[in-house]
Amino acid sequence: AKERGKNCLCLYEPALEQGALRRVRLQGLLRVDAERSAFQFVAQPKVDAQGRHTGAELLMRWQTREFGAVSPAEFIPIAEQTGAIELLGRQALHTAARLARDVERLDGRVKVAVNLSPRQLQGSSFERLALHACDRYGVRPDQLELELTESALASGLDVVQPLLRRLQRHGFVLALDDFGTGYSSLSHLLHLPFNKVKIDRAFVKDLGANARAMAVVRGALQICQGLGMTTVAEGVETQAQFELLRGLGIHEFQGYLFSRPIPPQDWLDQLAQGRAG
Ligand code: C2E
Ligand code: CA
Ligand code: CA
Ligand code: CA
Repeated sequence: AKERGKNCLCLYEPALEQGALRRVRLQGLLRVDAERSAFQFVAQPKVDAQGRHTGAELLMRWQTREFGAVSPAEFIPIAEQTGAIELLGRQALHTAARLARDVERLDGRVKVAVNLSPRQLQGSSFERLALHACDRYGVRPDQLELELTESALASGLDVVQPLLRRLQRHGFVLALDDFGTGYSSLSHLLHLPFNKVKIDRAFVKDLGANARAMAVVRGALQICQGLGMTTVAEGVETQAQFELLRGLGIHEFQGYLFSRPIPPQDWLDQLAQGRAG
């Protein structure tokens, strides 16, 4: 259909058209909902090898009247393209800082992780915004983890490297997300100051069934350990995966085996009960 050009009015492609309509509609709704802070956040706990809480990752949720729940896989790219991610990202940062304040009263070692989009790192204001969020809720930067995927680094090492170094000097914990799915992970590890690496769910899924996946994870771990970084496995769904990963020396674990993403207050309640019990 494409080569016939845009003047061709005789083609009718309902699926394409519907997809495009949905997208345009979502763009509009997203802007409005972002401005009225209608996005919600859930927290997915992380545990150590003994099953003790180490922190939680904040994940965004969007409930619309028109389309029901829209997944981040669909709305984050839209928000990135329209620029609404800057506003949403700030809301995420503030929600994370507030949760970090609340959780510190229960357990001072537990941290809150938040995802960053590439666009948030562009421009000059991210450092200031991040420090401002900490100030506002009275938390130290080291109570927050910033999760970046390799796409966040696309704007160029010469820009991102100094920014990440400054953030790290303030105390923010820097995590490389979805490790293994990008194109140049190894050079990123070499040049950027990450404190931890999150091994992508795709590897975890294949572990038991696939000796090659095991070899890749083992190799990745050696590299991370050599560089003094801690490791997190995401998408841990079975006890067998947990045992394997624990045997390999991974430090932290996240996945449905331990908990689905839950309302932040539920996580706080769990921690409070754990302390009491
Ligand atoms: P991510 O950062 O890799 O987050 C992990 C995703 O895996 C989450 O999906 C989580 O619900 C899901 N997950 C966790 N444990 C398991 C498991 O055991 N099995 C399976 N199958 N899935 C598991 P979610 O919440 O749909 O988020 C998808 C992506 O959207 C995130 O991937 C992240 O890239 C992005 N995202 C979510 N919230 C935010 C946000 O506040 N800001 C930005 N920039 N991106 C966000
Ligand atoms: Ca993440
Ligand atoms: Ca991830
Ligand atoms: Ca991901």
